[in-house]
Amino acid sequence: AKSDGRAGWRFFEPDMDVKAQARRALELDLRTAVTTDAFEVYYQPLLNAQTMEITTCEALIRWPHAKRGMVSPAEFIPIAEEMGLISEIGKRVLRKACAECMKWPKHVRVAVNISAVQVKRGNVPAVIREALEGSGLAANRLEIEITESVLLQDTEATHTFIRELHEMGVRLSLDDFGTGYSSLSYLHSYPLDKIKIDRSFLKDIESQDRVRKLVEGVARLSSELGLSVAVEGVETESQCDLLRSIPYVTEMQGFLFSRPVPRLEVRKMLDGTTPI
Ligand code: C2E
Ligand code: CA
Ligand code: CA
Ligand code: CA
Repeated sequence: AKSDGRAGWRFFEPDMDVKAQARRALELDLRTAVTTDAFEVYYQPLLNAQTMEITTCEALIRWPHAKRGMVSPAEFIPIAEEMGLISEIGKRVLRKACAECMKWPKHVRVAVNISAVQVKRGNVPAVIREALEGSGLAANRLEIEITESVLLQDTEATHTFIRELHEMGVRLSLDDFGTGYSSLSYLHSYPLDKIKIDRSFLKDIESQDRVRKLVEGVARLSSELGLSVAVEGVETESQCDLLRSIPYVTEMQGFLFSRPVPRLEVRKMLDGTTPI
């Protein structure tokens, strides 16, 4: 009877161990995925708010996993960062995104997300230069999306990163705008080209006049500083109509227009075979 003790113990194993095991399994899978280049890049368009033409497509990484299904980047990017795998993953995304953009009409740009951890690593400008040279893509067709957390780490690596991007002619976009707290000062402190107003504002933009005024004010200020203003997370026609009535909003993105889709579908969209 005593020999059952072990099995019993294992059965009542504390929660933390279960979590730690699941995490270790995910880490192993992630390492394999990097080795086998199991990641795909999907693209989601940004539209000109007036003409409704596609201006840019944002690269969003996908990890199709045999057992787990599509693993969300929100789940695995932070783990990849902790494991030191993000630079390798980011390099592949940049290469693929630049190469893919070469297949699109010349006026369409590609946007690539770069996290604070990647910037800290210090080699991103070199990786970008290599991706541009390898693909032949003009620097001004590449837009790098950073969040305030990049600017918040006010380090040498950040300043070098921003300066080198600017010198190369790569565009810089401030993502998730309005979710941090010292946002306004960033607008004139760095050579930004675009802000992307976070989708959390859209939730109340129709029901709360104050939220609409806030978005309008931020958009106006940014546009007067020479920045493009994109709004992300547009899901309904009425949100779209409201945003189009704000003259300072230059671009929109969201499920209403298109979800992130595989590269071949984006090509069809850009061919005009599947109009938005
Ligand atoms: P993000 O950069 O803010 O990207 C926008 C996220 O919102 C995407 O989720 C997109 O699918 C989703 N989205 C777009 N339109 C709508 C909408 O109308 N409604 C709603 N509810 N959601 C919408 P996704 O693809 O799961 O990516 C999540 C986050 O993962 C991204 O947030 C970004 O921070 C990160 N990420 C994705 N790809 C990369 C990458 O290649 N490198 C890095 N460093 N981060 C990435
Ligand atoms: Ca983004
Ligand atoms: Ca965003
Ligand atoms: Ca986000």
